[in-house]
Amino acid sequence: MSHVEDHASRFLPYLTSKQIAELPDKDRAVIVLPIAAVEQHGPHLPVYTDSIICQEVLGRALDQLPEEFSIWVLPLLSYGKSNEHIAFAGTMTLTAETLMHVLKEIGASVARSGFRRLAIVNAHGGNTEIIDFVIRDIREQTKLFVFALHLYLRVATPSTGLSEAEQIYGIHAGDVETSILLHCRPELVNRELAPNSIPKHLQTFKHPPFMGPLTFAWLTEDIAPNGVMGDATVADAAKGERFLDDAATQTADLLRQIAVFRFDPEA
Ligand SMILES: [Zn+2]
Repeated sequence: MSHVEDHASRFLPYLTSKQIAELPDKDRAVIVLPIAAVEQHGPHLPVYTDSIICQEVLGRALDQLPEEFSIWVLPLLSYGKSNEHIAFAGTMTLTAETLMHVLKEIGASVARSGFRRLAIVNAHGGNTEIIDFVIRDIREQTKLFVFALHLYLRVATPSTGLSEAEQIYGIHAGDVETSILLHCRPELVNRELAPNSIPKHLQTFKHPPFMGPLTFAWLTEDIAPNGVMGDATVADAAKGERFLDDAATQTADLLRQIAVFRFDPEA
């Protein structure tokens, strides 16, 4: 079990204001903002699932980064945009507008503190469009270099050990998330309630709804009345550990790339 503040030597809010003002290498330092969600995850997983996974992946990634990389982490922003799950109790969502403002205002604060690089590390699919859209506005308004790192959609899509159906439809509370929680917080998983809930009826639609050129707007209850998209019955802790380690290795590699990235067209 990992919390971002456990990594005390990289947790920015453990410094004083003066220490932050006087940090060396602010040009190169990467400020990481982790963001996740508080939202229903079926009958078997806690609503804090994405927030737990975000911190686990990021914590393991930080463990892999040598000290010479100046990478500082902000507190986790647990709340995200989760209106697809709003019909289910326990979902605590921000509107798109509020989330946009929160991200822009944190970006402005990071810039005001003298930093130049911000990386938003996101563990919830529903935040993706907002983040991708808002990072250009942050760039425009603050001149920060802003990066979006989506743990699921583009980084940790583990193909090893996942069925083909799970790779397409297993986007929520299925094999991946259940396996990860079984590894890192087994006491929070109600194993006996874990469903097999691949949305088979969607297979009549030629374009899988979560990828490809044609998509549609969905609410969770349109697809999965039990709140689960994926097969949680095949989850196990060993797979979960592998998923976490894969995601952490990829995340560490991307953070390294952000730390050395140059925007200099002459270079
Ligand atoms: Zn999730």
